[in-house]
Amino acid sequence: MRQAEQSACILCSRNCGIVVETDGERRITGVRGNERHPISKGYLCQKAARLAHYQDHADRLDSPLRREPDGSFTRVSWDDALADIAARLVAIRDRHGGKAFAFYGGGGQGNHLGGAYSRQLVKAMKSRFVYSALAQEKTGDFWVNGRLFGDQRCHLTEDVEHADFVLFIGTNPFQAHGIPNARDLLRELKTDPARTMVVIDPRRTETARLADVHLQPRPGTDAFLMAAILGIIVREGLHDAAFLASRCTGFGALEAELRAVPVEDYVRRADVSLADVEQVARGFATARAACVRIDLGLQQSLHSTLNSYLEKLLFLVTGNFGVPGGNTFHSTFLPILGHTDERGERRLMRTAHHGMFPIAGLYPPNILPSEILHDGEDRVRAVVVDSANPVLTGANTAAYERAFGKLELLVVVDVALSETARLAHYVLPASSQFEKWECTGFNLDFPMNAFHLRHPLFPPRAGTLPEPEIYTRLLVAMGELPDTFPVLERIARREPAATRHGVFLGALGAVLAAKPRWRPFAASIAYRTLGRALTADRARPDRVPPAAAAPLLALAFDIAAREPAAVRAAGHRGSNRFTLGVALFHAILERAEGVPITRHDYEATWSFLRTPDRKIHLAIPEMLAALRELASEPAPAAPFVLLAGERRAYNANQIFRDPSWRKVDREGAMRMHPDDARTLGLTDGARATCTSATGSIEVTIEIDDTVRTGMVTLPHGYGMRYQGGAPNGPQINRLTASEHCDPLARTPYHKHVPVTITPR
Ligand code: SF4
Repeated sequence: MRQAEQSACILCSRNCGIVVETDGERRITGVRGNERHPISKGYLCQKAARLAHYQDHADRLDSPLRREPDGSFTRVSWDDALADIAARLVAIRDRHGGKAFAFYGGGGQGNHLGGAYSRQLVKAMKSRFVYSALAQEKTGDFWVNGRLFGDQRCHLTEDVEHADFVLFIGTNPFQAHGIPNARDLLRELKTDPARTMVVIDPRRTETARLADVHLQPRPGTDAFLMAAILGIIVREGLHDAAFLASRCTGFGALEAELRAVPVEDYVRRADVSLADVEQVARGFATARAACVRIDLGLQQSLHSTLNSYLEKLLFLVTGNFGVPGGNTFHSTFLPILGHTDERGERRLMRTAHHGMFPIAGLYPPNILPSEILHDGEDRVRAVVVDSANPVLTGANTAAYERAFGKLELLVVVDVALSETARLAHYVLPASSQFEKWECTGFNLDFPMNAFHLRHPLFPPRAGTLPEPEIYTRLLVAMGELPDTFPVLERIARREPAATRHGVFLGALGAVLAAKPRWRPFAASIAYRTLGRALTADRARPDRVPPAAAAPLLALAFDIAAREPAAVRAAGHRGSNRFTLGVALFHAILERAEGVPITRHDYEATWSFLRTPDRKIHLAIPEMLAALRELASEPAPAAPFVLLAGERRAYNANQIFRDPSWRKVDREGAMRMHPDDARTLGLTDGARATCTSATGSIEVTIEIDDTVRTGMVTLPHGYGMRYQGGAPNGPQINRLTASEHCDPLARTPYHKHVPVTITPR
C-alpha cells in the first residue's frame, strides 16, 4: 500500500524537509517538498527527486564482511565480527596506547545521531584522534572564530534574507545551497532593484549570472582581493567607528595593517577592475544591512585560514554583525564541535608524526596517511571509518590506499561497499538513513533555529544495524559496559513521563557518579534503558521505538537551561528548566516534520560571545603576520590551476553510488576555456590526461567560457567503482597532495591544484 511520510533530504547541509512517497515496503516512489518543515517550507532543488538511488542500489550491504588473506570477503555473523574486532582493538590499545587508534567520519549530511555513539569508541580506545571531513573544509574558520570570539564553537551564519547587500565569495549557492531556500533567495535578490548581489568567483557561476556585480579574480587571489577591499574601506573612513569602539578590541593594530595594504597592486594581482573593487567596497560598507556568505571556494584555496579571517573582518569592520541582514551567531543543539585551543589545553593530544593539534576537537584528514605510514612506534595502527569514504575524498588517494593497506585493523561502518570498505579487514553494514531514527546536526539558522529528528520510513534492511546498536554492542564486547542496566530500565518505564525523565537523568547521574568508568558511555546507557521505553508517532505503533534519540533528552534539558527565553519563544512551554526540557524533547520526538528549538531577537546574538571581556578580539597576531606576508609572496606559476571539487547540478557527496542517478554530466567533465582548448588542440568531448605532482587521471573535456583562461574545473562526487567496475568519472584526489595545504589548519588547497593537461 502506498504511503507518504515526512523526512528530510540528506544530500546537503540544508536538509530540506521532504514528503516521501513509498510503495509501503522498501522503495521510494516519489519525493516532494514538505510545506510543514519549519525552515524549508516546501523548498527543494532537483537533487532530492533522485533519493531512491541512495536507498536502493546494488552496492548496499546486508551482512558483516571479513576480508580474507587472499583479499576476498567472507560473510560473517554480527557476533563473530564484533567479538573479533573488540579483541583486536583492546589488544592494540593495551599494547600501544590511545595514540595507536584513530576514528574517521561519523556522519554525512544528515547522519548525525550515530555520532553520539561512535565517539564513545574513541574514548574507550583512550584516543582523541577524530578525523573528519569538516577538518578538510572548515577548521581554519573555527580556529579564527576561537580567536575572535573566545570559543571555536562560536559559529556564524548570515542573514541573506534581510540583507540589502550580499557578498558571495567562493560559493555558488545556486548549486551548492548552504543558505535557506537558496534559489528563491537568489531570485528575490536579483529582482529587487533596492538590493545588491556581488559574487567573487573565478568562474561565472550560475549565481554570478544573477549578480549585479561579478568580480572574476585569478584563482588563489581571494586574500589579496579581500585585503584590498578592507584597505579601501579604512582608507576612505568607511569603517563603523562606533561599533568598533564599543564591541571590539584591537582595531588600532588591525587598522595599521589595512592602511598599509597596497590596494592597486593587490587588485592587479587578482586581475580585476579597480573601479569595480572600489564600487564593491563602498557599496558594502555603506549599505543599510550587508552580509558575507563564503564556502569552500575560499576555505580550500590558497591562504585558507587567512581568508576566513579577512571575510569576517569585512562584516566586523563595517559593523554588519548581530543586526538584521548582517552576520550573526546562532544557537546550537547537537554539540558537533568542541573547543580545543592549542595555546591553552595541556591535555591536547598532538599527533605523533606532524605534532598536529585538534581544532574544534577535529584532526585534518590531510595528515592521516603519514600518521599511519611513518616508522615510529607511536604510529596509528587501527582506524574505524564511519559513513565516509576517505580513499576518494581525502587528499592523495594513492597515499590513503598505501596507508590503509599497512594498518593492523581497518573497520568500515557504511551502508555500501565503498572504495574504503574494499580495503577494510571488517565491513559492518549500517541501516540506511531512511531505515532508522536519524537527524541532522547542521542547525545553523538565526533568529529561528530548528531541529529535525527523522522518523524511519522503512524497517532496517535484513542483516544491517543502526550505528547506536553497532557501537553499543562493540562496547559490551570490549568489556567496557554490561549488557543490561536493570535499575535504570525500571526507572525509565515509570509514569508519568513528565517526571520520569527528570528522575531518569538524576538516576543516570547517580549511576555514573558511582561508576566513573562508565561516564564516557552515557549515550549507550541511555539508549539501552530510556531509549527502549520511548515512544513517538502514535499513529505508527508498529515502528521501532526512537531509542537512538535517548541522548537528546540531556541536550533538550541543556538548551532549556542555557536559552530558556528563546526555547519558549520557539513555542515550547514549561515553568522551569526540567518541564521546559521535557516539553522540547517530546516535541522533537513527535513532530516528524521538524521543530523550531529557539527563536532569538538580534540583540541576543551577543549572548553567544565567549571572550572574557565580552568584546570581539580583532587583532590575531598570526593572521596579521600572514596579512603582512602577502606583500612578498611570489605569484604561483603553473600551466593550469585545477579547481577540484566543483559543485554541479548532478553531483552530491559520495552518497549516490549508482551513476544512473545523473541526468546530465555523466562523465564529470573537465571545464576548460575555449582559448585554452584551441591552444591545446582539444575539442568538446575530447579525452585528455590531467597530471599533477601526485598523479594522473584521464578526463573528458567540456569547452566552457564561464571559466577563466589558465584554470580548469572538475566536480567532486565521482570516481566510485559501482559494483566493482571502472571508476564512474574522475577520482580527483589522485591529483591532490597532502602537503599542499594551509600551514595552520592543514586544510587542503583543493581549489588550487597546479596541473598540466595533455591531449590523448
Ligand atoms: S537544497 Fe540540499 S537539502 Fe535541499 S533538496 Fe537540494 S540537495 Fe537536498
